[in-house]
Amino acid sequence: MKGSSSILLIYTGGTIGMRQDPIDGTLKPFDFSQILEEVPELGKFAVRIDSHTFDPLIDSSDVEPSLWQSIANLIKDRYDEYDGFVVLHGTDTMAYSASALSFMLENLSKPVIFTGSQLPIGVPRTDGKENLISSVEIASTKDKTGHPRVPEVSVLFDSRLMRGNRSTKMNSENFNAFASPNHPLLAEAGINIRYNDSFIRKPESWNEPLQTSVSLDTRVSILKIHPGITPQVVRNILCGSETRAVILETYGSGNAPSKGWFLNIVAEASKMGKILVNVTQCLSGTVNMDLYATGKALENEGVVSGLDITTEGALSKLFYLMGKSGDNEWVKARLGENLRGEISK
Ligand code: ASP
Repeated sequence: MKGSSSILLIYTGGTIGMRQDPIDGTLKPFDFSQILEEVPELGKFAVRIDSHTFDPLIDSSDVEPSLWQSIANLIKDRYDEYDGFVVLHGTDTMAYSASALSFMLENLSKPVIFTGSQLPIGVPRTDGKENLISSVEIASTKDKTGHPRVPEVSVLFDSRLMRGNRSTKMNSENFNAFASPNHPLLAEAGINIRYNDSFIRKPESWNEPLQTSVSLDTRVSILKIHPGITPQVVRNILCGSETRAVILETYGSGNAPSKGWFLNIVAEASKMGKILVNVTQCLSGTVNMDLYATGKALENEGVVSGLDITTEGALSKLFYLMGKSGDNEWVKARLGENLRGEISK
């Protein structure tokens, strides 16, 4: 397709490009060329749209960090050819992938928009067309100075553009499947697309070349605290030799049981040099370990505050930072820094 702007559509799989298997009735991915046939509206944009299809196409429940590395490498290889990138991705792990790419793409100065759909694009009531069309429009939009209007990794869903590392899947069946509870929307598509320019991150320099950081250290576990949790479970996860870092999903503003056995295991893991990060189970709000004695006790044992980061953001930030350095103290110090707009600071 011809036009003054150019977009690379990167198709990884997900419901948006699935169709029903006539034999067992389950949804399975189909060839990408058929997606373009399904959305002739794309031809009306003054945008050249090229596509890249991953093989195999996957349900995003099968996403592994190797896919993030492939997407990052692809964007780096084709960076100078395109004004923006739209990544078609399953919704189940889209927030993880968008978060990861936000860290892995350093000095990003072009839009990378993740989108997908709840209903396959061939279904009459699909949300996939609108999501795809709005993504292409936003990814090709420039500001008055000629720079891309949204030069960051984002998620477009149900007319709402969110920062990728602030997004989370919060509904398994409604079209408004994603939320950005701790950060305002970057843009909203109505009759016009309204951009919240003051909340959109701009690169420090438009001229810095894109760098990718594809070495990821995945030795991270997530422990969701719950009433009735046992010392055995807590010790296995916090002190296990497989983990270098553990995300503690705590109650409210960062609170966990104040029982002696619990704090002793946290202290033991800390002494072993583990990176322990406190992230709230609440959909929105921040960790503040100074508020309650139960939170303060974690802080005293060396647990680092994740502030208002999402679990998806914390996981991928850890993968990224730990891939860069074997020094856990360096990683802990960086966790408190706002690297890509993932925390409010
Ligand atoms: N299971 C699908 C996936 O994440 C769901 C979706 O795309 O909405 O690939």
